[in-house]
Amino acid sequence: MRRFVKQNNTRETSPVLVTKLGTRLPGNMKIWFTNQKFQSFIDRPRQCVKCYSFMHPSRVCEKSPICPSCGEIHSGICQSPQKCINCQGEHSVTSRGCPFYIKKQNILELKGRNHLTTAEARRIYTQSAKFNYAAAVKANTPSNAIEGQISEKMETMPLKMNEKIEAIAQTINAKMEQQATMLVEMFERLVGSLLQNLSAVNKLGGVTISPSR
Ligand SMILES: [Zn+2]
Ligand SMILES: [Zn+2]
Ligand SMILES: [Zn+2]
Repeated sequence: MRRFVKQNNTRETSPVLVTKLGTRLPGNMKIWFTNQKFQSFIDRPRQCVKCYSFMHPSRVCEKSPICPSCGEIHSGICQSPQKCINCQGEHSVTSRGCPFYIKKQNILELKGRNHLTTAEARRIYTQSAKFNYAAAVKANTPSNAIEGQISEKMETMPLKMNEKIEAIAQTINAKMEQQATMLVEMFERLVGSLLQNLSAVNKLGGVTISPSR
């Protein structure tokens, strides 16, 4: 994001989190007087650094700190084989390849991209996982052409479900968004006319306006 710093200064600053009313994300949005590019905010799974659970933040954890490699409570260098306490797999509990972590990440992505609550995203993810599993089982054992067609239909169903959800959400939010856009436009007009008045006053005094450094 570029802000007003000094003239001809194009230094990039850190990303800024902007909360927008509604569910549709514009590619660009005017903030003050510059056009800014937008991306969905996708959070990453938060893990407790004491017990390595994803259910709570570290500051409220009342458990004893465990070794992230073997999952046991011990001091000194770890000499046990790796074991993940979240999925029981043979890897460190902080591994980004852990199926448990990947599932959490996928749910957060679904949430961020489709503007859902965590509970909604989790439900849809679990349902579509079951759906895909059932479709995969069917697809592997097509006893005749009809069954093949059925499994084909099932595969396209989660997609259509998503489309439906999106359509409903868009209808509901279109109204809210219209109102929000109107408010923003009103505000921009107000700022614009204020600035015009200000520069008119300044010109009268023979001084030109310049942003403070
Ligand atoms: Zn914990
Ligand atoms: Zn250990
Ligand atoms: Zn794991």
